[in-house]
Amino acid sequence: MEFKLLINGKWVAGGDILEVRSKYTGEVIGVLPSARHEEVDAALRAAEDAASVMASMAAHKRSALLARTAVLIAEKTEDLARTIAAEAGKALKYARLEVDRAVNTFTVAAEEAKRIHGETVPLDAASSGEGYFGYFARRPVGVVAAISPFNFPLNLVAHKVAPALAAGNAVVLKPATSTPLTAVELCRILMEAGMPPGAVNLVVGPGATVGEWLVSDPRVAKVTFTGSPAVGKRIMEIAGIKRVTLELGNNSPVILAPDADLDYVAKRCALGAYYNSGQVCISVQRIYSQQAVYEPFLEKFVRASEAMVVGDPLDERVDVGPMIDIGEAERVASWVTEAQVGGAQVATGGKRDGGVYWPTVLTSVQPDMKVVAEEIFGPVASVIQCEHFEDALRQANDTAYGLQAGVFTRDVNRVFQAIRQLNFGGVIINDTPVFRADHMPYGGNRKSGVGREGVRFAIEDMTNIQMVAIRLES
Ligand code: NAP
Repeated sequence: MEFKLLINGKWVAGGDILEVRSKYTGEVIGVLPSARHEEVDAALRAAEDAASVMASMAAHKRSALLARTAVLIAEKTEDLARTIAAEAGKALKYARLEVDRAVNTFTVAAEEAKRIHGETVPLDAASSGEGYFGYFARRPVGVVAAISPFNFPLNLVAHKVAPALAAGNAVVLKPATSTPLTAVELCRILMEAGMPPGAVNLVVGPGATVGEWLVSDPRVAKVTFTGSPAVGKRIMEIAGIKRVTLELGNNSPVILAPDADLDYVAKRCALGAYYNSGQVCISVQRIYSQQAVYEPFLEKFVRASEAMVVGDPLDERVDVGPMIDIGEAERVASWVTEAQVGGAQVATGGKRDGGVYWPTVLTSVQPDMKVVAEEIFGPVASVIQCEHFEDALRQANDTAYGLQAGVFTRDVNRVFQAIRQLNFGGVIINDTPVFRADHMPYGGNRKSGVGREGVRFAIEDMTNIQMVAIRLES
């Protein structure tokens, strides 16, 4: 299948042809052109023109377009899920869930488009403001550059495109080069829903060229990026004076108190660690268990890990498909080997076949091992013994990251202690850090990023506050 770039409402050719492959079979499932500088420039020009069209469109019309998009996504669930499963290697059952979530993200955006409020400001609270009436309103920023990763090729695009349009902006989207086909399908849907030409433009190609041209262009008012901390840092360096949101990585901890339901925790942690082969920014990676329940929990967690069905993501029974490429599976294998050399034990897994890496549980790890200190972004979780709850909280916090953490306990005092002490953008009580509802504020502290997504919160950062002061004639 041949695909094209979307610029100003037209599907156009570009430069070198990129091949997109099935991550399980390796067969080519689509080809599309890489954008050259001229296509990126044309996309930005189109977005600049469309930004004024979107800014002057009535809120109820923007809302209707987004609601129509949600309906069309829902109608095409099976096609979209199969594209995600093939190009990202995500098990089909989870690819379908991703589509459901994208329907929800667009539905919430349709609702939020109607409630972008300002406030009155009592200017006479200062003597200089006596005799003035004041209010502020939110105005769209203009052109939003959206750069997305491979691991949720639909819903993480939705989290950028839907709020940008809801707020009355135009978008230039650059999806991950390994998974652009879902983004093409979404752009088709947006056009079918009736988006004005240029409101959404799609350029595909390497981050180092296409991505950087977008980020550094002064016509872009806002960059919204999800991906790795290294690229996030680079974006901050080259963006210049513009708004930037960074949704980056994590090495998510789970804190397990002895009063928790161990069977439940083991099953939730297995799903949270291996879903999408652990290639989720909030994947369960470090599980801190108090000594009293360490052995029984480990046994249950190993059993739950071994129950995961590994294989072809298009097979309905499969839980864990391939990683995004063989190189990534090799990297994960090398980190596990390095940990073993340092004394870590493999309780189950530790096996690789091409791009597939088996669900793996490690024990006897050390805090400075890569499998603990860095984001593994693969299906590997470590179970770590702790003396007491405070020790678990301290170790969970001992990281450069700060996206989400999970805590399992029935003790209300421990719950509030954890909420107070954990330096994470989200604290999830009695579930894993993988929990996310698409309208909640979502984002990280420290190396996990800057800003928040979750439609309403993204809209806040895709709008400028405009203050109005009116001198009243007496
Ligand atoms: P990545 O390598 O950082 O790539 C993300 C996107 O950035 C891709 O579209 C990539 O293009 C582009 N890019 C690469 N270099 C660039 C540059 N110099 N300038 C501008 N854009 C550039 O990340 P990934 O491997 O796709 O995703 C994995 C990472 O994303 C993990 O760290 C994960 O934790 C994080 N993530 C975070 C969240 C969150 O919400 N916090 C959610 C999902 C994933 P190419 O594809 O062409 O390289």
